[in-house]
Amino acid sequence: MSYVDEVIEQVVKQNPAEPEFHQAVKEVLESLRPVVEANEERYRREALLERIVNPERQLKFRVPWVDDKGQVHVNTGYRVQFNSAIGPYKGGLRLHPSVNLGIIKFLGFEQIFKNSLTGLPIGGGKGGSDFDPKGKSDREVMAFCQSFMTELCKYIGADTDVPAGDIGTGAREIGYMFGQYKRIRGLYEGVLTGKGLTYGGSLVRTEATGYGLLYLTKEMLACNGIDIAGKTVVISGSGNVAIYAAQKAEQMGAKVVTVSDSTGWVYDPDGIDVAALKEIKEVKRARLTEYKNYRPNAEYHDGRGVWSVKCDIALPCATQNELHLEDAKQLVAGGCLAVAEGANMPTTLEATEYLQANKVLFAPGKAANAGGVATSALEMTQNSERLSWTFEEVDAKLQSIMVNIFHNLDDAAKRYGFEGNYVVGANIAGFEKVAEAMLAQGVI
Ligand code: NDP
Repeated sequence: MSYVDEVIEQVVKQNPAEPEFHQAVKEVLESLRPVVEANEERYRREALLERIVNPERQLKFRVPWVDDKGQVHVNTGYRVQFNSAIGPYKGGLRLHPSVNLGIIKFLGFEQIFKNSLTGLPIGGGKGGSDFDPKGKSDREVMAFCQSFMTELCKYIGADTDVPAGDIGTGAREIGYMFGQYKRIRGLYEGVLTGKGLTYGGSLVRTEATGYGLLYLTKEMLACNGIDIAGKTVVISGSGNVAIYAAQKAEQMGAKVVTVSDSTGWVYDPDGIDVAALKEIKEVKRARLTEYKNYRPNAEYHDGRGVWSVKCDIALPCATQNELHLEDAKQLVAGGCLAVAEGANMPTTLEATEYLQANKVLFAPGKAANAGGVATSALEMTQNSERLSWTFEEVDAKLQSIMVNIFHNLDDAAKRYGFEGNYVVGANIAGFEKVAEAMLAQGVI
């Protein structure tokens, strides 16, 4: 049996009931086959793949908190410190009822390669909790965040592990967590990114993942002779990534016609009104059913369905495994030219393969959504320097990082004879740097 197959088998056996983690490992290792085969003897002797699929450390802890009625609740907190070969662990904190160890491990594993692709010195980690901030008062969210950080603060720091936002963790949650860290540790340092602008946050961080997604998509299209201006775009999700992806797509002259949330989706034939969307989601924290109050011409539909809309470009920006094989078939039938993942692993393996087989340009999340973590790393740099850069400075750096990421993965794919396969290219480009650093640092 090949080394890759052996390790995949071990991962499935040693980590039962973690399907998302298995999926992420399979997707990465399958596409690393050409590199592994070229170095098989050395990698086997060094147990490089066994080391890369095992987190350096995984923490699981109790998070008790009191609601507004005096009732005590207990959630589970996680932090998986996956790989620090090229820098301190870096990756977001997800607050969502679906969170479990397997999901945090899949995200942490992906994060290793994504962070490497940015070209910045950051290792891979991820964390979160099964706490649901939806429907909770600000005081309840603060009680949870303080309790969560009371435990987590023992294991993180500006030079060891720097968490950030993710699903359910926005500026409000980061603020409460930062306050508690500072209070307990007595340190004013860049231990979290995604902070508010008055206390060490970076301009463009809020917009970074969505904007970065569009910078990379535009470059990918341009390199394939396609202009993004005038194209029709469908987006899923209506959170941080989706909102700023829609904004940047419209600034580039494309028309975004859909957004969604976990209960339904909106089709706006005149183009999504981003200002209205921001007010509904960022200010009112309301459901998308409200959108019709702003735009009477728009349609609201219950359930899922954005991928049934005819488009040139599809940007899944909600959550994992939200674009299935049937959806990919609908996209191809509708003439879709490109899919770029704003979310982490939103496209199932079969759907990805179908899209690629049908010549749809496909940018995987670990490259396409790396703008968020890249800008987080720029926030860390500013914190270390005790300086704040302007919006234009950060935005220019983000653009050049995303363009470089595209060319790195394009080159890696070509080097190994997989021209145009950006999944293989992203995994190889991300892996090479981490593998070299791990081998150089010895058996640790
Ligand atoms: P948000 O919490 O701001 O928004 C998530 C959006 O996805 C919401 O519209 C939410 O709907 C929807 N959603 C969440 N879970 C589900 C589900 N199970 N089924 C259907 N819809 C769902 O998160 P972000 O925008 O920050 O993150 C979106 C994705 O992007 C995630 O995969 C995240 O890991 C990834 N990502 C985010 C980065 C960032 O900087 N924020 C960086 C890189 C990747 P509802 O409100 O109804 O729950």
